[in-house]
Amino acid sequence: MCIFCKIINKEIPSNTVAENEEFYAFHDINPKAPVHVLVIPKTHYNSFNDIPGEMMGKMGTFMQEVAKTLGIDQSGYRIISNIGENGGQEVGHLHFHVVGGAKLHWGHFADADPKDFF
Ligand code: 5GP
Ligand code: ZN
Repeated sequence: MCIFCKIINKEIPSNTVAENEEFYAFHDINPKAPVHVLVIPKTHYNSFNDIPGEMMGKMGTFMQEVAKTLGIDQSGYRIISNIGENGGQEVGHLHFHVVGGAKLHWGHFADADPKDFF
């Protein structure tokens, strides 16, 4: 069983932010901003590539509620999902990072120059 499935099953403790039948939100163990929460579906999908659109829609609604619960919906925040090797995904259970609580940087993004792709 993957590490986030163990968190859902309470085999590994976590700091809950919000929960319903299908989704779970909890504080990242290694926060990169004053607010850094992970949102996961309780069903295991390896990454964003695998989640059905209908489920993704419900997850979007849940994340909107999470942002309100965290009090960052008006000040602004960022939602990130790292996908696969180039995306820098480390945990193989779909998750969205919800980060905010301060002005976020938008910096150097890739090992290659964008103009090299086109
Ligand atoms: P990824 O790099 O896969 O997009 O992000 C994985 C995230 O999961 C990282 O930000 C990391 O800090 C977080 N993480 C990894 N293991 C645990 C854990 O056991 N508990 C919590 N709360 N966060 C974790
Ligand atoms: Zn899992």
